[in-house]
Amino acid sequence: MLDELCGAPNLYIDGKWVHAAGGGTRDIVNPADGTVIVTVDEADRADAVTAVAAARAAFDTGGWPRTSVAERIAVLERIAELLGATRDELARIETLDTGKTLRESHIDIDDVIAVFRYYARLAATGADRLIDTGNPAIISRVVREPAGVCALIAPWNYPLLQMSWKIAPALAAGCTMVAKPSEVTPLSTIALVRLIDRAGVPAGVVNLIQSSGATVGSALTDTPDVDLISFTGGVATGESIARNAAAHITRVALELGGKNPHIVFPDADFDSAVDAVLTGAFLHSGQVCSAGTRLIVHESIAESFVAELARRAERIRVGPGMDPASETGPLVSEQHRANVEAYVALGISEGAKLVTGGARPSDAALAAGSYYLPTIFDECQRWMRIVQEETFGPILTVERFTTEAEAIALGNDTAYGLAAGVRTADPARGERLVRALRHGTVWLNDFGYYTPAAEWGGFGRSGIGRELGPSGLAEYQETKHIWHNTAPAVGGWFAGNN
Ligand code: NDP
Repeated sequence: MLDELCGAPNLYIDGKWVHAAGGGTRDIVNPADGTVIVTVDEADRADAVTAVAAARAAFDTGGWPRTSVAERIAVLERIAELLGATRDELARIETLDTGKTLRESHIDIDDVIAVFRYYARLAATGADRLIDTGNPAIISRVVREPAGVCALIAPWNYPLLQMSWKIAPALAAGCTMVAKPSEVTPLSTIALVRLIDRAGVPAGVVNLIQSSGATVGSALTDTPDVDLISFTGGVATGESIARNAAAHITRVALELGGKNPHIVFPDADFDSAVDAVLTGAFLHSGQVCSAGTRLIVHESIAESFVAELARRAERIRVGPGMDPASETGPLVSEQHRANVEAYVALGISEGAKLVTGGARPSDAALAAGSYYLPTIFDECQRWMRIVQEETFGPILTVERFTTEAEAIALGNDTAYGLAAGVRTADPARGERLVRALRHGTVWLNDFGYYTPAAEWGGFGRSGIGRELGPSGLAEYQETKHIWHNTAPAVGGWFAGNN
């Protein structure tokens, strides 16, 4: 599959694989060792404009928005089957491109398949809503129709997963779309669109362009030809997209960042709590929007808890994602590692105590990759930028609390609101906490899990709208109220008309 990408055109516009009109290309780099995996086409603005026009024409005059639900379900199922048949190769591509371990990539691909299957099932349940108006002559019903042309913009940390959370419900709803993966990690999305092509999705329904947001972003987000923008990425980009959308009153769905608290009470099971905090913070080297990188631990256990965390963090095997012995891979790029290093320097300058990490691995075999060691800062204060800002790297900060009220206040002391975790053996306290925390997902005695059937998204600056679940389909639909009078008669409002 990767071989198919080499030298082949890999922009997909109006059902054809094409090279960038301007001849642009980009080397896609393996963050594990700095080598070039493959060179792909780099679209410019003109390609993006053409892709939007193709999606517009497919929506306005093509068959897809008007296909039967059964037909859409069959296509989604076919895509899921093709994904299943290419699971191992897709996982390999994702690992080469992002650096994550092969084990994580396999989990991602399985989740992608599950999302296509989930939306195939959900599409079958979209019955009209009948409303009793009290007048038997009136048939009042609310129907759902496709939202229109969608711009789907995804980040680099879960490239295929995040894009699938958009493409699957958009197809289920009957929308047409232009997908733009991150310029850093486009390979798995190119592979997915090849499968979508093979599954028989009509020309113009799914279009794909690769390029930087700076080059093609405005063609996708500052245009009356797009009806809905679904964006996953950073807050600053989300703000600029929302500003563009406002100029056209374009619908926006924003899945933005997070700075996610993980609160540990002293009655929690010690070992499983340490394990969950470690995994929540350092999985995929912390490059997870819902990473639990802000530990809020009760003062009575803080010392032993942090000591055990540090001991286990130092044993995490950092290495190439393709090596089965690796437990976490490199950061996605040299540039991103520089951002993470700047945050570590900031934490030190703010007075946080560096407990472990704070450096690149010393192993010479890893020197060519963008690796960074799991890092823990203790004695953090809520005002510190290292506590408040999303570092998107393997950096865990530790704050201590004494009362439950203080734990809640700290857990909610964030501009974000994507996810939070609570660990306690007291069910009543657990219930109070999960209701008090202002976050889109709250895990009680667990961390990081999700299911395609439950909504995902954030409070506050973590975004607008929800992906997954029924709301994830509703994002791609308009509701229409149809009022049908089966016995029309003169209303007689204006007496002079009689
Ligand atoms: P960015 O905001 O930098 O980029 C996200 C996507 O937007 C990329 O495809 C990028 O393209 C594109 N983009 C950049 N500028 C523009 C623009 N002006 N107009 C249109 N598109 C643009 O985020 P990252 O890729 O760095 O991803 C990390 C962020 O994503 C983190 O904040 C993370 O928390 C968030 N995230 C949120 C999730 C959630 O579910 N809430 C899930 C995963 C990540 P390019 O990079 O090619 O220039």
